Amino acid sequence: MEHKHQAIRGMNDLLADELPYWQRIEAAARELFADYGYREMRVPLVEHAELFRRSIGEHTDIVEKEMYSFDDRGGDRLSLRPEATAGLVRAAIEHGLLHNQRQRLWTTGAMFRHERPQQGRYRQFHQLDCEAFGYPGPDIDAEVIQISARLWRKLGLSGIRLSVNSLGTPESRLRYRAMLVDYFSARRDELDADSHRRLGGNPLRILDSKNPAMREVVEGAPRLLDHLDDASRAHFDRFLELLAASGIDAEVDPRLVRGLDYYTRTVFEWRTRALGAQDAVCSGGRYDGLVELLGGEPTPAIGWALGIERVVALLKAAGIAAGGTVPAVYLVLSGERAEVAGLALAERLRDALPGRGVLANMEGGSFKAQLKRADKSGATVALIVGDDEAAKGVAAVKWLRAEAPQEAWPWEELPRRLAAALDGDGATGKNDGR
Ligand code: ATP
Ligand code: MG
Repeated sequence: MEHKHQAIRGMNDLLADELPYWQRIEAAARELFADYGYREMRVPLVEHAELFRRSIGEHTDIVEKEMYSFDDRGGDRLSLRPEATAGLVRAAIEHGLLHNQRQRLWTTGAMFRHERPQQGRYRQFHQLDCEAFGYPGPDIDAEVIQISARLWRKLGLSGIRLSVNSLGTPESRLRYRAMLVDYFSARRDELDADSHRRLGGNPLRILDSKNPAMREVVEGAPRLLDHLDDASRAHFDRFLELLAASGIDAEVDPRLVRGLDYYTRTVFEWRTRALGAQDAVCSGGRYDGLVELLGGEPTPAIGWALGIERVVALLKAAGIAAGGTVPAVYLVLSGERAEVAGLALAERLRDALPGRGVLANMEGGSFKAQLKRADKSGATVALIVGDDEAAKGVAAVKWLRAEAPQEAWPWEELPRRLAAALDGDGATGKNDGR
C-alpha cells in the first residue's frame, strides 16, 4: 500500500464543520474595520529573509529560531512571513502610501513560525492585523484598542483583560537597558540559560521570561515606566485617560515588553485565563521607528495582531455557537423525468431565493432515503417530485420543521409562493437557522 500522506505537524486543516467560527470572526472584523475607516490590504506570504531580520530584530525568538527560511532556485534567501507588519510596512513604502498621507489598514492571513506545536500554538497560524500609519498621538493608540474591545463585544466574548505599558523612546530605552544589564549582571547566578543569552543581546526580553524560577529576580528589576522621558510619560498618561473615557479597563503592567524589537512607547496585550498557557489573544503597540528603519520617511505607526485560532478556542470555550448555514429547500427527485425537470427547477428556485440555499438530491435513492437526507440537511422545506408529480407539473411541498398539511404546488408558482412562505412567519414559515 502507498504511504499515507499527512499534514505537516503544527499546520492544521480547517474542516467545513470548523469554518463557521472563522467566518464569524472574519465577518465581524470586516464590518468593524469598515466602521472605523480601516481599509483592507494584502501582501505576499513570502518576503526576503532580510526584511524580517531587520524589522523584527536579530535577538528575537522569531528571527533566532522560529523562521521558515530557504534559498529559492534563483539563490535568494526568502522566509515565510512570521507576522504581517514587516510586509505591510515594506509595501506601504514601496508604493508610496506614506508620502504625505496617513493610512488606516488591516489585513488577515496565515503566518508561519517553527515553534513547538501545542494547544493554541501552531506552525501555520492565522492573524487579524490592524495598523495605522502617520498618527503620532495617543488618540490613535486608544482607537486601535477600541476596535479590539468592540470585536470582543461583537463576538460575545468576555473575560479578556487588557494590559498596557510604555517602552519609551529608543533613547530612554537605551538608558534603561544599561540599568537592566547592571541589575541582572549582579544576579547572574539566578538567571536561567535563556536569560544569560539575552543579557548580551536583548536584556529587556528577560522581563518577558515565562520561567517561574525567574519570577523573583524579574520582579526586583528596575521598571522602565519609572525611567520614561517626559514626552513618553505624557503620551502614556493621555493614552490611559482616553481608554478610561472610552470605558475600557486597562491594567498597567510594567513587565510587559513584547517580543519584537521594533516597539516604542505604547505596548499592550489582551489576555485571557480561558486558554491555559497560551494566554495572549491580541498583542501590539507603537513602532515609530520602523518605517524609517526600512528605508521610508520617518512615520509614526501603531498596530496589533490577533491570533484567530485562540479566538476560535475562546468562542468554543464560551459555548458560543457559530451557526453554520443550512439550505432552505431540499429537492427530492425520483425517476428520470423528475430528475431532468428537477435540476432546471432548482436553478429557477435559486434565482428566486438568492442566498437561501437550494439543495437538489443527487444520485436518486428511495423517497424515504431522500427525505432522510433532506431532514439531515437542516432544510426548512422538501419539494418532492416523483413520476406522478412530474406528469402533472407539480411538487409536493412538505414542511420539515413545522406541522402543516402537505400540498401540491405547480412548478411555475413555486418560486413566488416559496419566497413568500419562507419570508413569512408561522407554520410554513421561516428557515429556523438550525
Ligand atoms: P506568544 O507570547 O503566545 O508567543 P507572541 O508574543 O509571539 O505570542 P505576537 O507575535 O505578538 O505573539 O502575535 C500576535 C498574536 O498572534 C498573539 O497574541 C497570539 O494570539 C497569536 N500567535 C502568536 N504565535 C502564535 C502561534 N504560534 N500559534 C497560534 N497563535 C499565535
Ligand atoms: Mg511567540
